[in-house]
Amino acid sequence: MPELPEVETIKNQLNNFLPLKIKHVFFSDKTSRLIRQKDFKLESGIITNIYRKGKFLIFNFDNPDHFLISHLGMSGSWRISDKKLVGNEAKHAHIVIEGDKKVLSYVDPRRFGLAYFLNKENFEKKINSFPIDISEPTFDAVHIKNIFDQNPNKVLKTLLLDQKKFSGVGNYIASEICARAKILPTRVVSTLTQKDCTNIKAAIDLIIYGALKGSGTTFGGGYRDAFGEKGEGVNHLVVFHQKICQMCKKTEVIKITLGGRGTYYCPHCQK
Ligand SMILES: [Zn+2]
Repeated sequence: MPELPEVETIKNQLNNFLPLKIKHVFFSDKTSRLIRQKDFKLESGIITNIYRKGKFLIFNFDNPDHFLISHLGMSGSWRISDKKLVGNEAKHAHIVIEGDKKVLSYVDPRRFGLAYFLNKENFEKKINSFPIDISEPTFDAVHIKNIFDQNPNKVLKTLLLDQKKFSGVGNYIASEICARAKILPTRVVSTLTQKDCTNIKAAIDLIIYGALKGSGTTFGGGYRDAFGEKGEGVNHLVVFHQKICQMCKKTEVIKITLGGRGTYYCPHCQK
């Protein structure tokens, strides 16, 4: 599933090709679940820029009353190409925006993505309901401690996956945060100190930077960036999908299931 670094990567890649003047828009016949709201018809205008909030991409247009919010779901991606996609990729392209210089396609084989075409009023309602995400400057160690104080009985890794509290964290990032912060994923958060929170904040920054440097992280043929390439962020992982811990380089990584999700940790490095 695309997580924050993957969404950030796609956003940065797409912005290199903006502004894009829209010539023609095509929707596949399988968009009933994808398109959740359509306040306006996307058929002309200019995409001026794209920014990210949590795992959502937000498209701005020259018309200040038009906004597109896009969530990539399990397997979604926005592709930028010179010509329309062909073959298997074209089959899964559900929104195709032909622009004056490039073609922008929303490709989603499993179709768990979401798209909202909103006017300003509805956009502001929606965006204000989004929590701050882990990459924002105000998401600091004090903020993390407050979350823990409000949810004292929760298990660390399970709480990290709560999108209302740790917006942008997904399964692989949650395991990696615990590892880099040297804390067992099974710890109850009331036992964590302010120092632990500082370490968690440092771990978040390190992981986002590592994954971004590798243009996102791809597992077994999932995520693709805006050019259809796999991410290389997997090279930065220390426990997730690893046999030996990449921090101490000697201890076998243990895999458990926590809250129904595969969870990896090093019994030597994490306490
Ligand atoms: Zn280790």
